[in-house]
Amino acid sequence: MSRLGFISRETALLAEQGLLINIRTVSSAQGPWFDVDGKRVLNLCSNNYLGFANDPRLKSAAREALERYGVGPGAVRTIAGTMTPHVDLERSLAEFKETEDSIFLQSGFVANQAVIPALVGPDDVIFSDELNHASIIDGCRLSGARTVRYAHNDVCSLEDAVKTTPGRRRLVVTDGVFSMDGDIAPLDDIMTVADRYDLITVVDDAHGEGVLGRGGRGIVNHFGLTGRFDVEIGTLSKAFGVVGGYAAGSRETINWFKQKARPFLFSTGLSPADVAASMAAVRVLQESDELVKRLWDNAAYFKENMRALGYDTGMSRTPITPVMIGDASKSSELSRRLFAEGVFAQSIGYPTVARGKARIRAMISAAHSREDLDYGLERFAKAGRDLGVI
Ligand code: PMP
Repeated sequence: MSRLGFISRETALLAEQGLLINIRTVSSAQGPWFDVDGKRVLNLCSNNYLGFANDPRLKSAAREALERYGVGPGAVRTIAGTMTPHVDLERSLAEFKETEDSIFLQSGFVANQAVIPALVGPDDVIFSDELNHASIIDGCRLSGARTVRYAHNDVCSLEDAVKTTPGRRRLVVTDGVFSMDGDIAPLDDIMTVADRYDLITVVDDAHGEGVLGRGGRGIVNHFGLTGRFDVEIGTLSKAFGVVGGYAAGSRETINWFKQKARPFLFSTGLSPADVAASMAAVRVLQESDELVKRLWDNAAYFKENMRALGYDTGMSRTPITPVMIGDASKSSELSRRLFAEGVFAQSIGYPTVARGKARIRAMISAAHSREDLDYGLERFAKAGRDLGVI
Protein backbone atom coordinates (compact mmCIF):
# COMPACT_ATOMS: atom_id res chain seq x y z
CA MET A 1 0.00 0.00 0.00
CA SER A 2 2.65 2.50 1.08
CA ARG A 3 4.59 1.94 -2.15
CA LEU A 4 1.63 3.54 -3.98
CA GLY A 5 0.99 6.16 -1.30
CA PHE A 6 2.25 8.86 -3.69
CA ILE A 7 -0.85 8.37 -5.85
CA SER A 8 -3.34 9.57 -3.23
CA ARG A 9 -1.03 12.42 -2.17
CA GLU A 10 -0.51 13.63 -5.73
CA THR A 11 -4.15 13.17 -6.70
CA ALA A 12 -5.17 15.36 -3.74
CA LEU A 13 -2.66 17.97 -4.91
CA LEU A 14 -4.14 17.95 -8.42
CA ALA A 15 -7.63 18.40 -6.97
CA GLU A 16 -6.43 21.32 -4.83
CA GLN A 17 -4.96 23.03 -7.90
CA GLY A 18 -8.12 22.54 -9.96
CA LEU A 19 -6.19 20.24 -12.30
CA LEU A 20 -8.00 16.98 -11.72
CA ILE A 21 -9.45 15.82 -15.02
CA ASN A 22 -13.18 15.15 -14.82
CA ILE A 23 -14.02 12.51 -17.42
CA ARG A 24 -17.64 12.61 -18.48
CA THR A 25 -19.46 9.80 -20.27
CA VAL A 26 -21.21 10.35 -23.60
CA SER A 27 -24.24 8.12 -24.13
CA SER A 28 -25.30 9.17 -27.63
CA ALA A 29 -23.62 9.66 -31.00
CA GLN A 30 -21.34 12.67 -31.45
CA GLY A 31 -23.09 15.67 -32.98
CA PRO A 32 -23.86 19.34 -32.31
CA TRP A 33 -25.92 18.17 -29.33
CA PHE A 34 -25.24 14.98 -27.40
CA ASP A 35 -26.01 13.21 -24.14
CA VAL A 36 -23.37 13.62 -21.46
CA ASP A 37 -23.77 12.17 -17.99
CA GLY A 38 -27.47 11.76 -18.73
CA LYS A 39 -27.96 15.38 -19.90
CA ARG A 40 -28.59 16.70 -23.43
CA VAL A 41 -25.99 19.44 -23.99
CA LEU A 42 -24.57 21.60 -26.76
CA ASN A 43 -21.30 20.05 -27.89
CA LEU A 44 -18.49 22.62 -27.96
CA CYS A 45 -15.61 20.28 -27.32
CA SER A 46 -15.27 17.68 -30.00
CA ASN A 47 -12.76 17.55 -32.85
CA ASN A 48 -15.52 16.31 -35.14
CA TYR A 49 -15.00 19.45 -37.27
CA LEU A 50 -17.19 18.44 -40.19
CA GLY A 51 -19.82 16.40 -38.37
CA PHE A 52 -18.66 13.12 -39.97
CA ALA A 53 -18.70 11.09 -36.71
CA ASN A 54 -22.39 10.24 -37.14
CA ASP A 55 -22.73 10.78 -40.90
CA PRO A 56 -25.05 8.24 -42.62
CA ARG A 57 -22.64 7.88 -45.58
CA LEU A 58 -19.81 6.86 -43.28
CA LYS A 59 -22.03 4.55 -41.23
CA SER A 60 -23.29 2.82 -44.33
CA ALA A 61 -19.71 2.26 -45.59
CA ALA A 62 -18.77 0.85 -42.18
CA ARG A 63 -21.78 -1.50 -42.18
CA GLU A 64 -20.92 -2.84 -45.61
CA ALA A 65 -17.30 -3.47 -44.62
CA LEU A 66 -18.42 -5.12 -41.40
CA GLU A 67 -20.62 -7.59 -43.31
CA ARG A 68 -17.97 -8.31 -45.89
CA TYR A 69 -14.77 -8.39 -43.81
CA GLY A 70 -15.93 -9.00 -40.23
CA VAL A 71 -14.94 -7.05 -37.14
CA GLY A 72 -11.19 -7.55 -36.80
CA PRO A 73 -8.15 -7.83 -39.06
CA GLY A 74 -6.87 -10.96 -37.30
CA ALA A 75 -3.16 -10.18 -37.17
CA VAL A 76 -0.61 -7.39 -37.40
CA ARG A 77 -0.52 -5.98 -40.88
CA THR A 78 2.84 -7.51 -41.88
CA ILE A 79 1.65 -11.02 -41.06
CA ALA A 80 -1.87 -11.35 -42.45
CA GLY A 81 -3.74 -8.28 -41.24
CA THR A 82 -3.48 -6.01 -44.27
CA MET A 83 -6.92 -6.17 -45.86
CA THR A 84 -8.24 -4.59 -49.04
CA PRO A 85 -9.83 -1.66 -47.13
CA HIS A 86 -6.44 -0.77 -45.56
CA VAL A 87 -4.77 -0.69 -48.96
CA ASP A 88 -7.62 1.25 -50.56
CA LEU A 89 -7.59 3.84 -47.77
CA GLU A 90 -3.83 4.33 -48.10
CA ARG A 91 -4.26 4.96 -51.80
CA SER A 92 -7.11 7.42 -51.33
CA LEU A 93 -5.36 9.31 -48.52
CA ALA A 94 -2.30 9.72 -50.76
CA GLU A 95 -4.52 11.01 -53.53
CA PHE A 96 -6.24 13.44 -51.16
CA LYS A 97 -2.96 14.73 -49.73
CA GLU A 98 -1.39 14.78 -53.21
CA THR A 99 1.54 12.58 -52.19
CA GLU A 100 2.82 9.38 -53.82
CA ASP A 101 1.77 7.06 -51.03
CA SER A 102 0.61 6.79 -47.42
CA ILE A 103 0.71 4.32 -44.53
CA PHE A 104 -2.33 3.85 -42.28
CA LEU A 105 -1.67 3.45 -38.55
CA GLN A 106 -3.73 2.98 -35.39
CA SER A 107 -3.94 6.64 -34.39
CA GLY A 108 -2.39 10.04 -34.90
CA PHE A 109 -0.52 9.55 -31.63
CA VAL A 110 0.89 6.26 -32.87
CA ALA A 111 1.79 7.79 -36.25
CA ASN A 112 4.31 10.10 -34.57
CA GLN A 113 5.78 7.19 -32.61
CA ALA A 114 6.01 5.19 -35.81
CA VAL A 115 7.53 7.78 -38.09
CA ILE A 116 10.05 9.80 -36.06
CA PRO A 117 12.10 6.84 -34.77
CA ALA A 118 12.14 5.38 -38.29
CA LEU A 119 13.84 8.53 -39.60
CA VAL A 120 16.34 9.44 -36.89
CA GLY A 121 18.29 7.73 -34.10
CA PRO A 122 20.93 8.37 -31.44
CA ASP A 123 23.47 10.02 -33.78
CA ASP A 124 20.90 12.49 -35.08
CA VAL A 125 19.24 15.76 -34.09
CA ILE A 126 15.59 16.79 -34.02
CA PHE A 127 14.49 20.44 -33.97
CA SER A 128 11.06 20.54 -32.37
CA ASP A 129 8.70 23.47 -31.73
CA GLU A 130 8.40 23.97 -27.96
CA LEU A 131 4.60 23.64 -28.14
CA ASN A 132 4.50 20.47 -30.24
CA HIS A 133 1.89 17.85 -29.35
CA ALA A 134 2.70 15.21 -26.72
CA SER A 135 2.80 12.50 -29.39
CA ILE A 136 5.57 14.34 -31.25
CA ILE A 137 7.48 14.81 -28.01
CA ASP A 138 7.17 11.11 -27.22
CA GLY A 139 8.11 10.16 -30.80
CA CYS A 140 11.27 12.26 -30.44
CA ARG A 141 12.11 10.62 -27.10
CA LEU A 142 11.58 7.14 -28.53
CA SER A 143 13.95 7.83 -31.40
CA GLY A 144 16.89 8.41 -29.04
CA ALA A 145 17.95 11.42 -31.12
CA ARG A 146 19.08 14.61 -29.42
CA THR A 147 16.04 16.93 -29.36
CA VAL A 148 16.49 20.69 -29.46
CA ARG A 149 13.36 22.74 -28.77
CA TYR A 150 13.02 26.03 -30.61
CA ALA A 151 10.77 28.93 -29.57
CA HIS A 152 7.17 28.53 -30.65
CA ASN A 153 6.68 29.35 -34.35
CA ASP A 154 9.95 31.30 -34.29
CA VAL A 155 11.97 30.57 -37.42
CA CYS A 156 14.97 32.66 -36.22
CA SER A 157 15.12 30.52 -33.10
CA LEU A 158 14.95 27.42 -35.32
CA GLU A 159 17.75 28.68 -37.56
CA ASP A 160 19.96 29.62 -34.59
CA ALA A 161 19.53 26.11 -33.19
CA VAL A 162 20.25 24.51 -36.57
CA LYS A 163 23.44 26.58 -37.04
CA THR A 164 24.86 25.49 -33.70
CA THR A 165 23.79 21.85 -33.52
CA PRO A 166 25.50 19.39 -35.85
CA GLY A 167 24.31 15.82 -36.34
CA ARG A 168 24.48 12.90 -38.77
CA ARG A 169 20.88 13.40 -39.91
CA ARG A 170 18.83 16.42 -38.86
CA LEU A 171 15.05 16.71 -38.82
CA VAL A 172 12.60 19.51 -38.09
CA VAL A 173 9.12 18.63 -36.82
CA THR A 174 6.16 20.87 -36.10
CA ASP A 175 2.45 20.75 -35.49
CA GLY A 176 0.70 22.37 -38.46
CA VAL A 177 -2.12 23.83 -36.37
CA PHE A 178 -1.43 24.00 -32.63
CA SER A 179 -4.34 22.30 -30.97
CA MET A 180 -4.59 24.39 -27.80
CA ASP A 181 -4.22 27.84 -29.40
CA GLY A 182 -5.40 27.29 -32.97
CA ASP A 183 -2.41 29.17 -34.41
CA ILE A 184 -0.61 28.00 -37.54
CA ALA A 185 3.06 27.06 -38.03
CA PRO A 186 4.95 29.26 -40.56
CA LEU A 187 5.49 26.29 -42.84
CA ASP A 188 6.89 28.31 -45.76
CA ASP A 189 9.64 29.83 -43.60
CA ILE A 190 10.37 26.48 -41.97
CA MET A 191 10.75 25.01 -45.47
CA THR A 192 13.22 27.76 -46.40
CA VAL A 193 15.39 26.93 -43.36
CA ALA A 194 15.05 23.21 -44.07
CA ASP A 195 16.21 23.71 -47.67
CA ARG A 196 19.10 25.90 -46.58
CA TYR A 197 20.42 23.35 -44.06
CA ASP A 198 19.18 20.15 -45.66
CA LEU A 199 16.80 19.12 -42.87
CA ILE A 200 14.28 16.28 -43.08
CA THR A 201 10.83 17.88 -42.76
CA VAL A 202 7.88 16.44 -40.82
CA VAL A 203 4.57 18.22 -40.15
CA ASP A 204 1.67 16.92 -38.05
CA ASP A 205 -1.52 18.01 -39.81
CA ALA A 206 -3.98 16.59 -37.22
CA HIS A 207 -5.94 19.85 -36.92
CA GLY A 208 -5.28 21.08 -40.46
CA GLU A 209 -6.72 18.33 -42.63
CA GLY A 210 -10.39 18.81 -43.37
CA VAL A 211 -9.93 22.43 -42.26
CA LEU A 212 -7.13 24.23 -44.13
CA GLY A 213 -6.16 24.24 -47.81
CA ARG A 214 -8.20 23.53 -50.92
CA GLY A 215 -11.24 21.49 -49.87
CA GLY A 216 -9.54 20.68 -46.54
CA ARG A 217 -6.39 19.13 -48.03
CA GLY A 218 -4.42 20.48 -45.10
CA ILE A 219 -1.64 22.83 -44.15
CA VAL A 220 0.86 21.84 -46.83
CA ASN A 221 -1.71 22.67 -49.50
CA HIS A 222 -2.62 25.86 -47.60
CA PHE A 223 0.98 27.08 -47.99
CA GLY A 224 1.29 25.90 -51.61
CA LEU A 225 4.03 23.44 -50.56
CA THR A 226 2.52 20.29 -52.04
CA GLY A 227 5.20 17.65 -52.60
CA ARG A 228 7.83 19.59 -50.65
CA PHE A 229 7.40 18.24 -47.12
CA ASP A 230 9.07 14.86 -46.59
CA VAL A 231 6.36 13.48 -44.30
CA GLU A 232 2.86 14.62 -43.38
CA ILE A 233 1.38 12.98 -40.31
CA GLY A 234 -2.38 12.90 -39.94
CA THR A 235 -5.28 11.51 -37.98
CA LEU A 236 -8.63 10.10 -39.01
CA SER A 237 -10.13 10.94 -35.61
CA LYS A 238 -10.76 14.66 -36.01
CA ALA A 239 -12.18 16.19 -39.20
CA PHE A 240 -12.52 12.72 -40.77
CA GLY A 241 -14.74 11.77 -37.82
CA VAL A 242 -13.53 8.18 -37.33
CA VAL A 243 -10.33 6.82 -35.76
CA GLY A 244 -6.81 6.06 -36.98
CA GLY A 245 -3.68 7.83 -38.10
CA TYR A 246 -1.43 7.95 -41.12
CA ALA A 247 1.75 9.29 -42.65
CA ALA A 248 1.95 10.49 -46.25
CA GLY A 249 5.04 11.02 -48.39
CA SER A 250 7.06 9.57 -51.25
CA ARG A 251 6.64 5.91 -52.19
CA GLU A 252 10.16 5.12 -51.03
CA THR A 253 9.67 6.81 -47.64
CA ILE A 254 6.35 5.05 -47.02
CA ASN A 255 7.90 1.69 -47.96
CA TRP A 256 10.65 2.40 -45.45
CA PHE A 257 8.04 2.95 -42.71
CA LYS A 258 6.50 -0.40 -43.65
CA GLN A 259 9.89 -2.00 -42.99
CA LYS A 260 10.82 -0.06 -39.88
CA ALA A 261 7.88 1.52 -38.04
CA ARG A 262 7.39 -0.52 -34.89
CA PRO A 263 3.66 0.14 -34.32
CA PHE A 264 3.07 -1.06 -37.90
CA LEU A 265 5.21 -4.17 -37.39
CA PHE A 266 4.12 -5.14 -33.88
CA SER A 267 0.55 -3.93 -33.32
CA THR A 268 -2.65 -4.96 -35.10
CA GLY A 269 -4.23 -2.44 -37.46
CA LEU A 270 -7.72 -1.00 -37.15
CA SER A 271 -10.90 -2.80 -38.08
CA PRO A 272 -12.24 -2.89 -41.67
CA ALA A 273 -15.33 -0.92 -40.58
CA ASP A 274 -13.22 1.96 -39.21
CA VAL A 275 -11.17 1.96 -42.37
CA ALA A 276 -14.17 1.94 -44.71
CA ALA A 277 -15.79 4.81 -42.80
CA SER A 278 -12.59 6.83 -43.09
CA MET A 279 -12.48 6.18 -46.79
CA ALA A 280 -16.07 7.41 -47.16
CA ALA A 281 -15.06 10.65 -45.35
CA VAL A 282 -12.19 11.21 -47.76
CA ARG A 283 -14.55 10.58 -50.68
CA VAL A 284 -17.08 13.15 -49.42
CA LEU A 285 -14.33 15.74 -49.02
CA GLN A 286 -13.00 15.05 -52.50
CA GLU A 287 -16.46 15.64 -53.95
CA SER A 288 -17.34 18.93 -52.23
CA ASP A 289 -15.88 21.70 -50.10
CA GLU A 290 -19.29 22.71 -48.75
CA LEU A 291 -18.69 21.38 -45.21
CA VAL A 292 -15.28 23.04 -44.97
CA LYS A 293 -16.82 26.38 -45.94
CA ARG A 294 -19.62 25.99 -43.38
CA LEU A 295 -17.04 25.18 -40.70
CA TRP A 296 -15.18 28.45 -41.37
CA ASP A 297 -18.40 30.51 -41.48
CA ASN A 298 -19.51 29.09 -38.14
CA ALA A 299 -16.10 29.63 -36.55
CA ALA A 300 -15.93 33.26 -37.72
CA TYR A 301 -19.44 33.93 -36.36
CA PHE A 302 -18.72 32.37 -32.97
CA LYS A 303 -15.33 34.02 -32.48
CA GLU A 304 -16.52 37.46 -33.49
CA ASN A 305 -19.42 37.27 -31.03
CA MET A 306 -17.26 35.90 -28.21
CA ARG A 307 -14.89 38.85 -28.67
CA ALA A 308 -17.86 41.22 -28.66
CA LEU A 309 -18.84 39.74 -25.28
CA GLY A 310 -15.40 40.66 -23.96
CA TYR A 311 -13.71 37.25 -24.10
CA ASP A 312 -10.08 36.90 -25.15
CA THR A 313 -9.93 34.25 -27.89
CA GLY A 314 -6.13 34.26 -28.08
CA MET A 315 -4.23 34.03 -31.35
CA SER A 316 -6.31 31.41 -33.10
CA ARG A 317 -6.43 31.52 -36.90
CA THR A 318 -8.52 28.37 -37.20
CA PRO A 319 -11.89 27.11 -35.90
CA ILE A 320 -10.23 26.13 -32.59
CA THR A 321 -11.43 28.87 -30.22
CA PRO A 322 -9.47 29.15 -26.97
CA VAL A 323 -11.34 31.22 -24.40
CA MET A 324 -8.46 32.44 -22.27
CA ILE A 325 -9.20 32.50 -18.52
CA GLY A 326 -5.75 32.07 -16.92
CA ASP A 327 -6.55 30.66 -13.49
CA ALA A 328 -7.23 26.91 -13.64
CA SER A 329 -9.87 26.91 -10.88
CA LYS A 330 -11.79 29.76 -12.51
CA SER A 331 -11.63 28.05 -15.88
CA SER A 332 -12.96 24.78 -14.39
CA GLU A 333 -15.71 26.71 -12.61
CA LEU A 334 -16.75 28.41 -15.86
CA SER A 335 -16.89 25.01 -17.55
CA ARG A 336 -19.03 23.64 -14.68
CA ARG A 337 -21.46 26.57 -14.89
CA LEU A 338 -21.74 26.22 -18.66
CA PHE A 339 -22.52 22.53 -18.26
CA ALA A 340 -25.24 23.32 -15.74
CA GLU A 341 -26.70 25.63 -18.40
CA GLY A 342 -26.58 22.93 -21.09
CA VAL A 343 -23.24 23.68 -22.79
CA PHE A 344 -20.35 21.22 -22.76
CA ALA A 345 -17.09 23.14 -23.23
CA GLN A 346 -14.05 21.65 -21.52
CA SER A 347 -11.58 23.51 -19.38
CA ILE A 348 -7.96 22.78 -20.26
CA GLY A 349 -5.20 23.30 -17.73
CA TYR A 350 -1.65 22.24 -16.92
CA PRO A 351 0.04 20.04 -18.14
CA THR A 352 -1.86 20.24 -21.45
CA VAL A 353 -1.18 24.00 -21.49
CA ALA A 354 1.30 26.07 -19.44
CA ARG A 355 0.50 26.92 -15.81
CA GLY A 356 -1.53 30.14 -15.56
CA LYS A 357 -2.82 29.73 -19.11
CA ALA A 358 -5.96 27.71 -18.40
CA ARG A 359 -8.73 28.13 -20.89
CA ILE A 360 -11.99 26.81 -22.18
CA ARG A 361 -11.36 25.33 -25.59
CA ALA A 362 -14.48 25.85 -27.68
CA MET A 363 -14.60 23.68 -30.77
CA ILE A 364 -16.93 24.82 -33.52
CA SER A 365 -18.11 22.45 -36.23
CA ALA A 366 -19.83 22.56 -39.59
CA ALA A 367 -22.72 20.66 -37.99
CA HIS A 368 -23.68 23.51 -35.63
CA SER A 369 -26.60 25.68 -36.72
CA ARG A 370 -26.68 29.42 -36.06
CA GLU A 371 -29.28 28.74 -33.34
CA ASP A 372 -26.87 26.30 -31.68
CA LEU A 373 -24.10 28.89 -31.70
CA ASP A 374 -26.42 31.60 -30.36
CA TYR A 375 -27.46 29.26 -27.55
CA GLY A 376 -23.78 28.77 -26.65
CA LEU A 377 -23.02 32.49 -26.87
CA GLU A 378 -25.92 33.39 -24.54
CA ARG A 379 -24.75 30.86 -21.95
CA PHE A 380 -21.14 32.06 -22.21
CA ALA A 381 -22.39 35.62 -21.65
CA LYS A 382 -24.37 34.71 -18.54
CA ALA A 383 -21.84 32.37 -16.95
CA GLY A 384 -18.93 34.72 -17.72
CA ARG A 385 -20.67 37.72 -16.15
CA ASP A 386 -21.77 35.74 -13.07
CA LEU A 387 -18.19 34.58 -12.57
CA GLY A 388 -16.69 38.00 -13.28
CA VAL A 389 -14.42 36.87 -16.15
CA ILE A 390 -15.92 39.30 -18.70
N1 PMP B 1 -1.19 15.15 -33.19
C1 PMP B 1 -1.84 16.26 -32.82
C2 PMP B 1 -1.28 17.58 -33.21
C3 PMP B 1 -3.04 16.17 -32.10
O1 PMP B 1 -3.70 17.27 -31.72
C4 PMP B 1 -3.54 14.90 -31.78
C5 PMP B 1 -4.87 14.72 -31.04
N2 PMP B 1 -4.91 15.17 -29.76
C6 PMP B 1 -2.82 13.78 -32.17
C7 PMP B 1 -1.66 13.93 -32.89
C8 PMP B 1 -3.30 12.41 -31.82
O2 PMP B 1 -4.27 11.98 -32.70
P1 PMP B 1 -5.16 10.69 -32.32
O3 PMP B 1 -6.22 11.16 -31.41
O4 PMP B 1 -5.62 10.19 -33.63
O5 PMP B 1 -4.23 9.74 -31.65
